[in-house]
Amino acid sequence: QPELAERMSWVKESPSSRVADRVRAFRAAGKPVLPLTIGEPDFDTPEHVKDAAIAAIRAGETKYTSANGTPALQSAIRARLERKTGRPYGPGEIAVGGGAKQLIFLAFLATLDAGDEVIVPAPHWVSYPDMVALNGGRPVLVPAAADTGYKLTPELLRAAVTDRTKWLVLNTPNNPTGAVYSKAELAALAEVLRGHPRISVLCDEIYDEINFGAEPVPSLVSVAPELRERVFLVNGVSKAYAMTGWRLGYAAGPAALCAAISTLQSQSSSCPSSVSQAAAAAALDGDQTFIRETVAVYAERREVLVSGLAAIDGLRPVRPDGGFYVWTDAARLIGARTSGGTRITTDADLAEHFLETSGVVVIAGDSYGCPGHFRASFALDSETIRKAIAGLAASISKLR
Ligand code: PLP
Repeated sequence: QPELAERMSWVKESPSSRVADRVRAFRAAGKPVLPLTIGEPDFDTPEHVKDAAIAAIRAGETKYTSANGTPALQSAIRARLERKTGRPYGPGEIAVGGGAKQLIFLAFLATLDAGDEVIVPAPHWVSYPDMVALNGGRPVLVPAAADTGYKLTPELLRAAVTDRTKWLVLNTPNNPTGAVYSKAELAALAEVLRGHPRISVLCDEIYDEINFGAEPVPSLVSVAPELRERVFLVNGVSKAYAMTGWRLGYAAGPAALCAAISTLQSQSSSCPSSVSQAAAAAALDGDQTFIRETVAVYAERREVLVSGLAAIDGLRPVRPDGGFYVWTDAARLIGARTSGGTRITTDADLAEHFLETSGVVVIAGDSYGCPGHFRASFALDSETIRKAIAGLAASISKLR
């Protein structure tokens, strides 16, 4: 068998996949599990989107497409981005890929040379640091504090910049915290970036439609249009339209970067699925009722989960402004002992204790670069959320 590359000795499987395996193993053993780990909408893809995909298959749209997408998808994306940012993006300024995830990976592959640094504010989505490292870069984790809503501040940004900084990753709404950067917060970060023209910003806005605020989630490019030439805006249909399995993401940014991504795509995957592209075009162009309806349901579940967690001694949940996760400070439970006498020394121990004693699965904060916390999802029905809260309360009552 072929010897694996050196990089395989350090790259980690995504914690979300690891936990999903754990859940499957528990279920297979006949043990009940309450997975607060779900990272995707529990809704079905809207019917009109499925119909568009079926129609595309019947019309013979089953061949390779241009690496950067069909004209129909390109135009749907450009219209969406213009509505969101208030400015048009040209055809050469769009990239399309097999999920936002692939586009982020390709953006790093296209731009990072050995030793280039990427500032990743923590708590961060699990994949950024490994993606940076796999492409030869150095992830620079910048822990953000609870009292600023776990958001990057201008001071933290200024202190993290070096001569090697190539990218800043900005994820709003944030996974795992649900934090949304306000216009003023983005403007303050933009002010720092103005002094560092070599730094580009990867804005991951994949959760922007799952927004509980009165205003749309602000985008750095609208707040600071003069930075547009160095902002790579990443989005996709996975979360907004319950289309995670279709694997379709899109991005907008500098033409040279989009062309580079297209070249890399042409040599790796050729193009995203033609059928998924037709579905995504229908999702972006079509009726948007689905988003309104599902966000109303998420909003109810958010209250169930936040209030349930807040009522448990030792937990301090953060009410999210967007996305479908509740980030929870559990630091007060670290150091406690289980009834069997085992000491809980890390948040991973705590997550294991929840699983073993009540079947509730959460993802430990360590995976997000922020120990002492956990992430709980509300992409599942309120009844299951209530059962999970009761389970967590029972597990925590067993700690001394
Ligand atoms: N970015 C963030 C912050 C995410 O949480 C996820 C999915 O969990 C992605 C990107 C990837 O989305 P996609 O399904 O479009 O690849």
